Amino acid sequence: MGTPAHLPSIIAIDGPASSGKSTLGKGMADRLGYLFFDTGVMYRAITWLALSQGVPVQDGAALTELARRSDIDIRPPSVADRRNCDILVDGTDVTWSIREQQVDSQVSAVSAVPGVRQALTLQQQRIGQRGQVVMVGRDIGTVVMPQAELKIFLVASAEERARRRYEELHQRGEEADYSQILAGLRRRDEIDSSRQVAPLRPADDAKLIDSDGLDAAQVLEYAMRLVYQAAEQDP
Ligand code: C5P
Repeated sequence: MGTPAHLPSIIAIDGPASSGKSTLGKGMADRLGYLFFDTGVMYRAITWLALSQGVPVQDGAALTELARRSDIDIRPPSVADRRNCDILVDGTDVTWSIREQQVDSQVSAVSAVPGVRQALTLQQQRIGQRGQVVMVGRDIGTVVMPQAELKIFLVASAEERARRRYEELHQRGEEADYSQILAGLRRRDEIDSSRQVAPLRPADDAKLIDSDGLDAAQVLEYAMRLVYQAAEQDP
């Protein structure tokens, strides 16, 4: 295959929790030399901030205010502990604390608040519009970057996703209970899919990838074929 004339500059990857979006997105960004931007970290950062400041996750107005005035920064990794990047909230390194189970269990409630979404969507669009970016989330292809030249919707069964999440926690030495993880994922998917603003759903022109039975390398190869196909269709 020759060098395609026009690779998609904005690539959107959406899908339910733990479907492998970040692994795929990071792999594609590395191959293409693009920025990898995981938008979920922004919702996690606001959730972490709310929990640490004692702001109730039912208080939409207070959460909106937090999202508007907090400075979320994503920088190259400063510590070699398997992180992809540093995530800072108002100067505090929250890279690992936003992955704790307390944040997992509250983040979907926080991300359902319309004012929070509005504030974070604007920030995401500013970064995405620069191009040469792989953006990962729930509403990238439908709301944040509907102009993305390639949209992928990544799915896997809830059981497979819970198994992967269990392995991930286990490897980090954290305590994990498979059935609790499965129930938590289902609850998050339910809230993410049924919320009023920007619910989780594939864009009409999204390419669906079901990763059940595929390993990360196979999903990446398949997605890269979609990149080159998109380039051939838009020379
Ligand atoms: O992708 P991750 O699981 O880290 O995202 C955490 C939560 O952030 C999701 O469950 C969802 O509620 C929210 N989210 C969102 N829109 C995005 C990215 C994440 O609502 N674009």
